[in-house]
Amino acid sequence: MMSLRFLLLLLLLFQFSVPGILAINNEDPTTKTMEDFSGYPIHEPTDYSFALPNLLLSSVSVDTPTLQNQIDELSTFSDTSSPSVTRILYTEKDVLARRYIKNLMGLSGLSVREDAVGNIFGRWDGYEPDLSAVATGSHIDAIPYSGKYDGVVGVLGAIEAINVLKRSGFKPKRSLEVVLFTSEEPTRFGISCLGSRLLAGSEALAEALKTTVDGQNISFFEAARSAGYAKDQDDISSVFLREGSYSAFVELHIEQGPILEAEGISIGIVTAIAAPASLKVDFEGNGGHAGAVLMPNRNDAGLAAAELALAVEKHVLESGSIDTVGTVGILELHPGAINSIPSKSHVEIDTRDIDEKRRNDVIEKIHQSATTIASKRGVRLSEFKIINQDPPALSDKKVIEAMEAASKELNLTHKLMISRAYHDSLFMARVSPMGMLFIPCYKGYSHKPEEYASSHDMGNGVKVLALTLAKLSLN
Ligand SMILES: [Zn+2]
Repeated sequence: MMSLRFLLLLLLLFQFSVPGILAINNEDPTTKTMEDFSGYPIHEPTDYSFALPNLLLSSVSVDTPTLQNQIDELSTFSDTSSPSVTRILYTEKDVLARRYIKNLMGLSGLSVREDAVGNIFGRWDGYEPDLSAVATGSHIDAIPYSGKYDGVVGVLGAIEAINVLKRSGFKPKRSLEVVLFTSEEPTRFGISCLGSRLLAGSEALAEALKTTVDGQNISFFEAARSAGYAKDQDDISSVFLREGSYSAFVELHIEQGPILEAEGISIGIVTAIAAPASLKVDFEGNGGHAGAVLMPNRNDAGLAAAELALAVEKHVLESGSIDTVGTVGILELHPGAINSIPSKSHVEIDTRDIDEKRRNDVIEKIHQSATTIASKRGVRLSEFKIINQDPPALSDKKVIEAMEAASKELNLTHKLMISRAYHDSLFMARVSPMGMLFIPCYKGYSHKPEEYASSHDMGNGVKVLALTLAKLSLN
């Protein structure tokens, strides 16, 4: 008996003399007892490798069978048949899917509210509810004939992360909030990340929506009203988040790329999100008969477009960074006959980078090339239009640290990486410190029915998310 006590004392002393071990595995028993009585953490944590005062790591367990069932169930709210998923903004299936999510939020004890465009929020009040909340979430809309994991993992996974914390007995200090973003995909109105752009306070989008129609000429507001939203269309600015609403935002998402699966790594910690700029360019030449007009006398708009496409590649490669990319995805010639010299051409260019200046330099060089090519070929540069030019986003250092610490404590392999696709997080970064967690997905497939993430990988993602939220909530 005596020797056992002595051993315990030794162990205790050992822990106090090795702060690293103390921080990761155990708390000061005196503090623990005080906390048990008060229900509050006694000391303010200084970094994210602290042991969570009211959360036992061993009690963090994810109900993956239920999560998988929910993903399968949600996928049935689709306008195309299984295994494909088609869920377009404000359609009947979208409304039913939203109802499904709101119901799950309610079952998890979250208080649910919706804004004028249908962003949905489920809140778990912290014991200091006046502090800015920690938010997590993603989207559930799906482009035609896509899969059931894109976005969905970050919404259903977020609700399960809340369940994990509740089951473990955790009490959040800052409130935790699950967000379902309206229309991350641009399918219906040609606007991507519609909900998060508005949350980030885009006055330009609020204005543009007043005249926005879909392919069937149904106005945005008509569609929104049919789904029960936007009752007062002049007050879309009510969607804008108040400054300081969130102290952190974290999105869990499938990687949509092959790296994690290929390298056998469980968790991707996103440090930056690349942002696209899109350009539309038109050239006008003279056209003419493919046999009769001799080569020195031509003003071929088609060749101008072809030359510009090669110039895009050249300028992108000149940046010297692997993170700069450029694509000419559309190149149309008019009149489009084999025996007619193109009199008009239309080019659409997408260029992306994680460095805004570098990407904008590429845009500037593309513009210069378009002008030079036009004058050299005697054609007119009738349009050079930058359709959008969103700034890339960097993840917040503190959020990265919290995600890394959570992965380490859960003994999960992880790596820092860049998101080359963009997400609602890109816009949330404008109004909140932001971070993203990636999990592996089969062959990197996304936006098609073969999209797949294993229950095991989703479970890991939810665990890291839960622990990250817990850490950020107590900070
Ligand atoms: Zn997505």
